[in-house]
Amino acid sequence: MCSVGDPIFWKSSGRLADGREIIYFDESPGLGRASVPDRRPLAQTPGESDPGQADQAGQPGHPGNSGRPGNSGRPGNPGIPGRDLPPAGLRWDALAGEWVIVAAQRQDRTFLPPPGECPLDPSSPGRLTEIPAPDYDVVVFENRFPSLHGLPPSPVPRAAPAGAPADRPPVDRPPADGPPADGPLDAVPFLPGGPPETGGVPGRPPIGRCEVVCFTADHNASFASLPPRRVRTVLEAWADRTTVLSSTPGIEQVYCFENRGEEIGVTLYDLHGLLYVDHFVTPRPASMLRQLRAHTAAGRGNLFDVMVAGEEAAGTRIVSRNDHWTAFVPAAARWPYEILLFPARRVPSLPELGEEARAAFCVIYPDLLRRLDALFGVPLPYIAAWHQAPAGDEFACREFGLHLQLFSIRRAPGKLKYLAGSESGMGVWINDITPEEAALRLREAR
Ligand SMILES: [Zn+2]
Repeated sequence: MCSVGDPIFWKSSGRLADGREIIYFDESPGLGRASVPDRRPLAQTPGESDPGQADQAGQPGHPGNSGRPGNSGRPGNPGIPGRDLPPAGLRWDALAGEWVIVAAQRQDRTFLPPPGECPLDPSSPGRLTEIPAPDYDVVVFENRFPSLHGLPPSPVPRAAPAGAPADRPPVDRPPADGPPADGPLDAVPFLPGGPPETGGVPGRPPIGRCEVVCFTADHNASFASLPPRRVRTVLEAWADRTTVLSSTPGIEQVYCFENRGEEIGVTLYDLHGLLYVDHFVTPRPASMLRQLRAHTAAGRGNLFDVMVAGEEAAGTRIVSRNDHWTAFVPAAARWPYEILLFPARRVPSLPELGEEARAAFCVIYPDLLRRLDALFGVPLPYIAAWHQAPAGDEFACREFGLHLQLFSIRRAPGKLKYLAGSESGMGVWINDITPEEAALRLREAR
C-alpha cells in the first residue's frame, strides 16, 4: 500500500473524437495514455472544439451544450417527426415537490453487448472503444448517453487539499420546498409552453454532467476482487472528480455510485461506476438535511454522530468495523440487505477524508462486498451510493456525514425485492427481514 507522502495517482486528460472529456488516473507516471487519439469516426458535437487533442489542464475548447432544452447539441430529444412536443429535460413534479429527469434520448443506448463489443475495454488493433489507450488503471469519461449534460469544461480546482464546497461563497439556507429559486438554474429558461396553469411544462434543461468511471481494464473483474491499491485509485478518482466538479459554479451535488448486476438494470456487464453532477439537491440528501437541521435545532447534537455512536454501543446491527470505519445495517433498513459505512471521523465529503481513513477504506469495503456475495453463494446484485454534503450549503458542509449506502435487492436465493404497491404507490417500504437478522447473517457471511 501507499505510505503517507507517496504519490497515489497520476492524472491526465484528453478528448474523445466527439469532444467528450476523458481523464486517466494512472498508478505509475509517464504512461502518455491521454495523448492516444480517438480514431473513431464519431460525429462532432455541435459547439465542441479541438477534439482528440490532449488537454492536460482540462480547460479550453469544450463549451458543451448551449443549455437550450432538448434538441440542441449532444444528446437531444429524438422527439416524433412532425410533432411539436415539449422537449425532454428536468420536469418539476409539483405534487411531490421533486425534479424528474426525462432523458428520452437514452432509449437507444448500448444494451448488454457481447464481450467482444464491450465499449469499456481498452482499444486494441481492429477494435476501437470508448477508451483509446491500449490499457488503463482507472479512467473517467463523459457518458455518451447522459441523463444530464451541458456543463462547461472542467474548471481548475482550488488549491489542494480541495474541499467539496467550491469557489462560490457558501450560503446557509433552508431546504427548498419548491423549484430552487437560487443558483444557475435561474439563468436558463423554463421549458417552452407557458405556465403550468395553461398546460405548459414547468421544467428546465437537463444541465449537469454524467460520467462513467471504469475501475479496471479487466472485463471480468468485480469490485470485490480489486486489490487495495486499485481500490485506493478508485477512491482518489471519486474524490478528485468531486473536488473538480464541485468547483463549477452552481453545482449542488456530486453523486458517485455503482450499479452491479443485470437485476439492478445495468446495460454494460463490465465493472464500472457512474457519476451524476446535479444542479439541484436530490430528495434523499434534502430529506437527510431536514432531519439533521431539526435534530441540531432541538439541541440533540449531530444526528449522524448520535446514530453511529448508538449503533456502536448497541452492536446488534454492526456488520464490520476497523479503527477508521464502521459498517452497520440501519435500524430502519428498507432493503433486505442494506449497509451504511461511516468514517470514524465525520467529514462532509470524499475530498476531506484523511489519509488513514482512505487506506482503511481499501480493506473494509471489498470485505463488505465479499460478504454480500457470500450470503447466497452467488454474485449479489447491489447498488453502492456515496452520500456527500451538497456543495454551497454551509450547514451541510459543516454538519453532514459522508457515508456509503450499500444495498442489494435480493432477499433470498431466486427472489428479488420489488418496489410494488406500497413502495411505489405510497412510498412506504416493507422489508422482509429484520435489520438485526440481516446484520447477523452479514457478520457470519465469509
Ligand atoms: Zn469490457
